[in-house]
Amino acid sequence: MINYGNGTKCVQAGYRPGNGEPRQIPIIQSTTFKYDTSEDMGKLFDLEAEGYFYTRLQNPTNDHVAAKIAALEGGTAGMLTSSGQAANFFALFNICENGDHIVASASIYGGTFNLIAVTMKKMGISVTFVSPDCTAEELDAAFQENTKAVFGETIANPALTVLDIEKFAAAAHAHGVPLIVDNTFPTPVNCRPIEWGADIVTHSTTKYMDGHGAAVGGAIVDSGRFDWMAHAEKFPGLTTPDESYHGITYAEKFGLEKAFITKCTAQLMRDFGCIQSPQNAFLLNLGLESLHVRMPKHVENGQAVAEFLSKQPQVKKVSYPGLPADPYHVLAEKYLKGGGCGVVSFEIEGGRKAAEAFMGKLKLAAIETHVADARTCCLNPATSTHRQMNEEQLRAAGIPAGLIRISCGLEDKEDLIADLSQALGE
Ligand SMILES: *Cc1c(COP(=O)(O)O)cnc(C)c1O
Repeated sequence: MINYGNGTKCVQAGYRPGNGEPRQIPIIQSTTFKYDTSEDMGKLFDLEAEGYFYTRLQNPTNDHVAAKIAALEGGTAGMLTSSGQAANFFALFNICENGDHIVASASIYGGTFNLIAVTMKKMGISVTFVSPDCTAEELDAAFQENTKAVFGETIANPALTVLDIEKFAAAAHAHGVPLIVDNTFPTPVNCRPIEWGADIVTHSTTKYMDGHGAAVGGAIVDSGRFDWMAHAEKFPGLTTPDESYHGITYAEKFGLEKAFITKCTAQLMRDFGCIQSPQNAFLLNLGLESLHVRMPKHVENGQAVAEFLSKQPQVKKVSYPGLPADPYHVLAEKYLKGGGCGVVSFEIEGGRKAAEAFMGKLKLAAIETHVADARTCCLNPATSTHRQMNEEQLRAAGIPAGLIRISCGLEDKEDLIADLSQALGE
């Protein structure tokens, strides 16, 4: 599918049925797989042959859908996880261990911030958070001897900062480590971070990829470009024998294209088991089939709502990279050619109280801990997704108490604006 456009890949990549086989990706609802000889199965356990033996590690339905996402991102290998959280944890933990260090943008999803700052810290992995707007010198100064990865979000949830992917990739590569980019908000329809130098791309497929609020899931895609062997001393998990797999060295046996995902499946899926259910993978694929049709509509609605809000006296500030006055507009024009996403953040006059009153009056936009599905929804992050952050951390992430995040769905934009307008009125 390499020469096809992303729309064609959304519809058809990842699964090519043979003669008389199901046109739609079959849901392989089976925990296990049958073999004729112990020898056949033994080859799978030795990673000598490709195949399936237990759905805690791999399932054919998932692999078709992961292959589609890898094709969309322009990567060489991909895998699905049970959630976006699992995807980011696996992407980092596949190359970081006790004693290692991560450089991360401070402007990231609250769940990922917590994962890195609190839970991974308990595993002995430390982090230095940097502003996404830091200078090249400030970014450089965040690295340590034991830094193993750089992490950021293309468009941060919910701050809507745009990552200067080339700047972060250059710093990561100068220090011999990969850049991991969470590309959940733009999706590969609007940005493909690998084209700008990212090495690993992650997703919460729960958002636009599924797009219907139906299935929690995540994905990891490897660009196949990071040369683990060139920095062998930093990544012993990939470049030295894995005793739990009969002494296989992933980077040697599976090459640039497959080493990262194979290790992640063979070790982390085996041990943590955060696999996406094949049912959810099937639902995710239904969403992917129309991703390229839906994203422009989400962007159109986001842009219209952002423009409307920016003209209202009750609104202090609107963040949407598609607005010419937005501080990230220049980066958005570079990295987000098709527009960013349908999520708009704004700060209402009167802080938390006014935010609650406004949200209570909305008729179309429901109050939900969700973004990026077909139905418009809204949330006050300071009292929900980001409530574990203290005032200082909230400020650093660009999230004031009166901030409302509205995720514009696929309704008619005139109706969305009328709803916002009545809720802002008396
Ligand atoms: C939602 C989200 C996540 C977490 O994904 P889940 O599927 O909810 O686990 C990670 N990153 C970003 C940018 C998100 O929006």
